[in-house]
This record gives sequence, C-alpha cells and structure tokens, in this order.
Amino acid sequence: MDTQTSTRTPPPEPRTFGFYVGGQPVAAGEREVFERASPGHGVPVTRIPTCSAQDVDMAVAVAREAFEDRRWSGLSGADRAAVLLKTADIMRARLDEIAYWESLENGKPIAQARGEATGCIGMFEYAAGLARALHGDSFNNLGDSMFGLVTREPVGVVGLITPWNFPFLILCERVPYILASGCTMVTKPSEMTSATTLMLAEILTEAGLPDGVMNVVTGPGSTVGTAMTEHMDIDMLSFTGSTAVGRLCVEASARSNFKKLGLELGGKNPQIVFADADLEDAADGVAFGIAFNTGQCCVSGSRLIVERSVADEFARLVADKMSKIRIGDPLDENTQAGAITTDAQNRVIMSYIAKGQEEGATLAYGGEQLDLGMGQYVSPALFTGVTGDMAIARDEIFGPVLTVQEFDTVDDAIAIANDTVYGLAASVWTKNIDKALTVTRRVKAGRFWVNTTLSGGPELPLGGFKQSGWGREAGMMGVEEYTQVKSTHIEIGKRSPWVDG
Ligand code: NDP
Repeated sequence: MDTQTSTRTPPPEPRTFGFYVGGQPVAAGEREVFERASPGHGVPVTRIPTCSAQDVDMAVAVAREAFEDRRWSGLSGADRAAVLLKTADIMRARLDEIAYWESLENGKPIAQARGEATGCIGMFEYAAGLARALHGDSFNNLGDSMFGLVTREPVGVVGLITPWNFPFLILCERVPYILASGCTMVTKPSEMTSATTLMLAEILTEAGLPDGVMNVVTGPGSTVGTAMTEHMDIDMLSFTGSTAVGRLCVEASARSNFKKLGLELGGKNPQIVFADADLEDAADGVAFGIAFNTGQCCVSGSRLIVERSVADEFARLVADKMSKIRIGDPLDENTQAGAITTDAQNRVIMSYIAKGQEEGATLAYGGEQLDLGMGQYVSPALFTGVTGDMAIARDEIFGPVLTVQEFDTVDDAIAIANDTVYGLAASVWTKNIDKALTVTRRVKAGRFWVNTTLSGGPELPLGGFKQSGWGREAGMMGVEEYTQVKSTHIEIGKRSPWVDG
C-alpha cells in the first residue's frame, strides 16, 4: 500500500515502476526512463521504462505461450470468474491508491477518479458473470443425420492500446471482458498515464491470474504502439484513441497479419435540446457533458444544438452553470474539473479557442488559460453564433469547448446532428416522447442518452458508428468481440456415400 494516498499532495519523489511480463514487473535496466509530471502540479510523479520493439516481441511471445498451453483458456468459466471477482475485491481494497495515481498522472479530480475506479470494480464483477454465461448455439433442425454446433473460442493474443483520458476506466471497460473470453493479452497504456495499468497487472497476479496472461509494455505510441499494430503474432488489436491513429491500425493490420480490430475513436457528439425540455436540468447536463474530465472525453457533448426559440435563454443558463464549476487542484476533494492532461492537448485546446474567434464565432463565456500557480487549467468555453462549416463545429477538440447551433424543426436538428464524420454518442433533451424517439432513431450514434448524458455501466455495449470506430466493448457483446465463431457439422449414423459402390 502506498503511503502517499492519504496525504493529498504529490509524492516527494516520483514512484518508479517496471513494465510487466510473465506475472512480474521488469525493471528498466538499461532502457530509457520516462518521467511523468503531474499536469495539475507540474512536478514529477512517476518513472516508467521506455520499452523497445524487442520488449513487445518478448511480451507477445509470453502471451502466446500462455494462450497455447491453455493455462487460462482451458479453465472453466467459473474458474475464470473466480479470478475476476477476486480482482474486484483487491481493487476495492486499493481504491484510494488507484484513484491517487490516476489523478496525479491524468490531472482529473481525485473524487472523480475514485468514482471511475468504483465503476471499474463493477466491470470486473459483471464480466465474471459473463465468463460463465458465454455460450454458443446448436442446430437440431438439420434432419436426423446431422447436428450443428456453433461454438465460441477466444480469439488468441489480444493487443490493447489505451489513451490518457481515462487510463483506468477505458482499461477496465476492456480487460475483464478480454479475460472472460479466455484470451491472453499485451497492453500498452499511453506513455503519459501508465501507472494504474501497471497496478492492475499486479492486482490480477495477486488475484490468481496465471502468469503471462496479462502483460504490459510501456513507452510511446510511435514505437511501442506501432510495433504492436504491425505484430505478426497479435491476433486482435483493441485500440482506443484518435481517428488518425485508428486509420494507421487498419493499414498496419492489412500490411501484417490481418489482425482483427476493435476501434473506439473520436467523436463530435451532439446535445440536442428542444424548447419543451426541462431547461434547468438540460443546462446542468450540457455543462457536465462538456466540462466533465475537462472535455477530454470521446463522448463529450461538444455540439449544443438548441431550438431557436429558447437558444439565447439556454446559452445564458449554460454559461451560468459553467461559471459555478469548481476548477482546481485535482487532489482537492471538492474539485469538479482538474487539469488538462498534456501540454500538447493544452495547446490544441487554446488554438481552437483562438480559431473559433477568428472564424467569427462569439466567445460568450470562458475559454481562458487559468493561472493557479501550478499546472495547466482552462475554463470551459461557450461559443455562440457558430455555423456548421467552422472548424470548432467539425473537429474533435478534446477539451472544454462547447459550440452552439440553432434549429427550427426536428428534421433540422437531426440534419445538424448527423453533419459530422463521427457517430460515437448523442444526447437529446425533451419531454416529448415522439421527438425523443424520432431523434434517437435517426441520429447516427453508438450511444444515446435521453434527458441525461454520460451515464454508463458494464451492461450496455460501447462503440461508434461511422468514423468513430468498429466493434463494441462491454456487455456480452464486449466478450463476444474477443471470440471467434466455429461452426461444426456432426454426422449422425452412416454417411450417404459420394463414391458409388
Ligand atoms: P492517440 O490516438 O495518439 O493516442 C492513443 C493511444 O495510441 C496512446 O496509447 C498512444 O500512445 C497510442 N499511439 C499513438 N500513436 C500510435 C501509433 N502510431 N501506433 C499505435 N499506437 C499509437 O491520441 P493522442 O493521445 O495523441 O490524442 C490526440 C487526439 O486523439 C485527441 O486530441 C483526441 O481528439 C483524440 N483522442 C480520442 C480518444 C478517445 O477516447 N476517442 C482518446 C485519446 C485521444 P502514447 O500516448 O504513449 O504516444
């Protein structure tokens, strides 16, 4: 147990981690070490080895051996479930420690990090049930001489590449489902946020996961990530991050071994607000939807599409909510929005705020770099007078930047909502069931919220339409995604001969 968890200040010295292969940490040795500074405080907090392509080879070879000798895939669903449940228990005992390191590396509020880690425990518990429930199908209607079986088998060695915005949550939306399927894996967290992934590997070992089933390589995407996308012995790659890198994953798969891909990519998600909505409720949800995790969220509601008759009033309500959000030290229990996670992302956000004004939109609220005497913080920005051709309305900014567009009819609202290459998530606010159902049917998005936003859990699958990705994570579909289907025809009795005589 780390003694820093209760002090609520950054650690006096950065914590040193190894990467993780074969059930144990591997020290950096001769490798370079990446020192990660807390974005909320600007002080070094972790030291992580920079792995090489050879380290990826080593980790994949270990995962391959663990898969082929069936030390995990050969267990019953009940035995796999026991490990996942034990993992959940240990996570619960180490909740504060996980939240502390997540908050330090990512810059998110510690209370939020704790909430996310609590949700992650639920993911493991739910996936434990799925390990037992996973099943195939049978065909008893093929005539007396034939019986058909459809079975699911784990796909093999899975590569998992995760981003820095929800290092632990996104990890746990995938790992327990991958393990429930019987696969083995090699994970690469973002170099910015490796600590909690390494902690999960350690917890899994403690919970009884056989060595070599879950391995973690650390280092930058440009080298370690690329080595994984091109690897000939990774059977499936699950990637979460930008659409640009998602495209590279597709190209690398085609160039290498046609590995199966699961992709969760960018979003430019609409928040459609009708005049008949509970506007107070909707304004709260819209402010939350863009400021939560400082807008560094693939499902952030970054495009407010509001009925013209209430647009001015609603923009004022949202600005008022934004002005009351508590932004500050991620380690303060009262903070609602913490730091921007990386310098690069901070620059991207500020450049879009400048661009929005150059494009002619009105910065109606916020959008300032806040000087808290440490770290990098931005107040949520509200842009009115936005048109659909502006970059701020089209690009995934990945920051607390909300654009406002107005509509007159249901058809207009749907057309504006669908005017994007993305299709990850959408929200609609109305008390009219016809409007709610029409919009949820016709807006192209993998996740929908009606009169709420950003809620979730282990039961419902996640994933995107259009350029937001391929496949689904979580829920039973999230386990099935990591399986392949085998159809078996079984002859009963003597086969009718093909060759005469
Ligand atoms: P990336 O897509 O670059 O990073 C996501 C993950 O992919 C990280 O682990 C990263 O490693 C890794 N990676 C980077 N390059 C490669 C590569 N060539 N091959 C394989 N893996 C790679 O996102 P960024 O972190 O740079 O963020 C850029 C933008 O992406 C954001 O502004 C946002 O728009 C979007 N994004 C979307 C997310 C989502 O959940 N949909 C999540 C994160 C970002 P490393 O970080 O170590 O370099």
